[in-house]
Amino acid sequence: MNKKGLLIILSGPSGVGKGTIREKVMADSSLNLSYSVSLTTRKPRDGEKDGVDYFFVSNEEFEKRIQEGLLLEYTRFVKHSYGTPKDYVEKLRNEGKNVLLEIEVNGARQVMRAMRKDKPVSIFILPPSFDELERRIRGRCTECEAAIQERLKQARAECKLADQYEYRVINDTIEDCAAQIIRIIKTEIARHN
Ligand code: 5GP
Repeated sequence: MNKKGLLIILSGPSGVGKGTIREKVMADSSLNLSYSVSLTTRKPRDGEKDGVDYFFVSNEEFEKRIQEGLLLEYTRFVKHSYGTPKDYVEKLRNEGKNVLLEIEVNGARQVMRAMRKDKPVSIFILPPSFDELERRIRGRCTECEAAIQERLKQARAECKLADQYEYRVINDTIEDCAAQIIRIIKTEIARHN
């Protein structure tokens, strides 16, 4: 029988580079990682694919999943809902996969509480500075000014909660940040085995 895989929570404010860092970390096959694809009610951005980046669902479908107790955690974030499918994560972990959740702080706290016995590994990515974060969020230009302001406000609030995570890593460069996260996961895998 496979040993049950680790649960790894990766958080960080909008614009910090989580997506790119996550891809680099996922590319290291020695970590035996699977990505937990979340549900969201927001619309796909250019290039995003259903079932790969997210499962894009309606508000009704999302509510139904909540009522049926099918989400490990969920939250509202800048006017949309996001949630982690419980069965999917458990199935992967039971197959021995280490499962990476890229989720925001409210959801992360729910997972830390609900899965305390499983000792999830929690990692928070911090920007080098807020000026830099604002530059990155604006550079993406995928949203209107009001949404950008909302994401910046949210980012400041999220960074205040970084000390609730076991590990904090500053994203000075994508390469260094990804390398540090890979080292953390390797250490945790060795401890787990
Ligand atoms: P975005 O709309 O930029 O893809 O994601 C917005 C925020 O929601 C990001 O911080 C992302 O990490 C977070 N997020 C994505 N999926 C989930 C989820 O399933 N649960 C929670 N709590 N947050 C999520």
